[in-house]
Amino acid sequence: MMAAPLAVLPAGVSSPVFARALAQLRKVVGPEYVLVDREALLPYEKLMLAAPQDEYAPSGAILAATVEQVQGVLAVCNKYRVPLWPISTGRNFGYGSALPATRGQLILDLKRMDRILDVDPVLSTALVEPGVTYQQLHDHIAERNLPLWLDFPGGGPLVGPLGNTLERGTGSTPYADHFAHACGMEVVLADGRVLRTGMGSLPGSRSWQAYRYGYGPYLDGLFTQSNFGIVTKLGLWLMPSPASYRTILVQYPEDAALERAVETIRPLRLAGTIANPCALSNAALALTAYTRRAELNQSGGPTPDAVILSAARQHGIEPWNLSFTLYGTAEQIAPNLDIVTRAFEMSGGRVDPDHHDPSQVNELNLDAFHLLDWVGGGGLAWLAPVSAALGADAARQRDIARGILGRHGFDYLAAPTVYGRDLHHLIALVFDHGDPQALQRARTAFRELARAFLDNGYGFARTGIDYMSALAREYGETHREVNRTLKRALDPNGILAPGKAGIRP
Ligand code: ADP
Repeated sequence: MMAAPLAVLPAGVSSPVFARALAQLRKVVGPEYVLVDREALLPYEKLMLAAPQDEYAPSGAILAATVEQVQGVLAVCNKYRVPLWPISTGRNFGYGSALPATRGQLILDLKRMDRILDVDPVLSTALVEPGVTYQQLHDHIAERNLPLWLDFPGGGPLVGPLGNTLERGTGSTPYADHFAHACGMEVVLADGRVLRTGMGSLPGSRSWQAYRYGYGPYLDGLFTQSNFGIVTKLGLWLMPSPASYRTILVQYPEDAALERAVETIRPLRLAGTIANPCALSNAALALTAYTRRAELNQSGGPTPDAVILSAARQHGIEPWNLSFTLYGTAEQIAPNLDIVTRAFEMSGGRVDPDHHDPSQVNELNLDAFHLLDWVGGGGLAWLAPVSAALGADAARQRDIARGILGRHGFDYLAAPTVYGRDLHHLIALVFDHGDPQALQRARTAFRELARAFLDNGYGFARTGIDYMSALAREYGETHREVNRTLKRALDPNGILAPGKAGIRP
């Protein structure tokens, strides 16, 4: 019997060669863990970005369960030059989900590697495999009744610390910068060698999760937002549960307050008075928790500000809404509450010291998904231009975003967020992915926005699979050449995730 021809092939690999590779891969992981039927691949194929799905179709998916299997997979893929796209929990929502940066790659799904190898309540550290989710880690900590908190990104319980940290994702507590709180990696290199970073290469090491830098060059950064290796273990620092906390809501009743708000936040963040990121949600973004756009606006154009604001105020939402948390003992919190209250009131903010935000206090939630309901249809592309944490920059970014989005009929849904000295102006481009016209409009708006931000000196810290190569070009030829040199040295056949972060052999 002739087997049906495979629908999608890796670039440069013929159908018989791919079939031979698949046969060997089945021996490595077991036949049930090599998926090539379109139906079996459906869970991997949902693209939320404003790009044609077909350009990113994988040739298959393979599920490895151990480091040895990953090494076996790499040996076969090197032999037949089959490109492999590693994913951990594979839910990189708004950046490409599980899909590869170019068509025809074989997805290496590591969700079966889901062991929590260690949680140390004394040092407040953990060691996890790629498939571990935040929910799983949360449950483990709760079962053992350990005094540890997690910091998680918008995807909350569904996603995992390893994949998110490799993307340099962020959360909402003092441990928001995930890569800054990672300590030690195990990486399988393209040739199958296993590298442990930091103190992990030392025989009998007793400090792998305690000290990050080890000896010699600090290598961990090379394995974030890159395609230089497959990370199979990651050490994490966890936040000791604070004695108490108090979440504060600050609201500004006019749009022009954005500059003042940022100028007020920055010194409080730099002094450490506020220890977690300060996200200023605009009215439209906050309103997505309560209302759909269609209830306010049936036109093809953007929803007028006045309409948004009057709907928002029915739910206690103002043009800018900031919440942050003070953590510590009651004695520590009291003076800090005085300091922040005075500072925000002086800047024209209204202060409510009895607020609640689950993400800031270790409560996993799916709240971030409300924004998809604004228009329905599942389209989402994130765009977060980075600037210094200066009010004037935040305002300029807002004006750029609002102008371009409005011209294409989209609402400005945003949360300019001060992390420290940096501000990431988080913008959600939501659209109906099933409507080809809306998708095309979103694609055009995305490209125009990105161009405008870049022309104003604002880069991006992360982007979707449809914009990785374009963004890499913006960072200049030397930057690209250095990455290519590393790529050639570590993965001479170029089989690992070609196109990730715009890096190709
Ligand atoms: P999450 O589900 O937490 O959002 P993903 O598993 O989707 O995270 O991973 C995000 C991205 O990080 C992937 O698209 C891939 O480029 C990269 N990545 C994920 N896991 C690995 C890994 N184990 N090794 C190397 N790169 C990885």
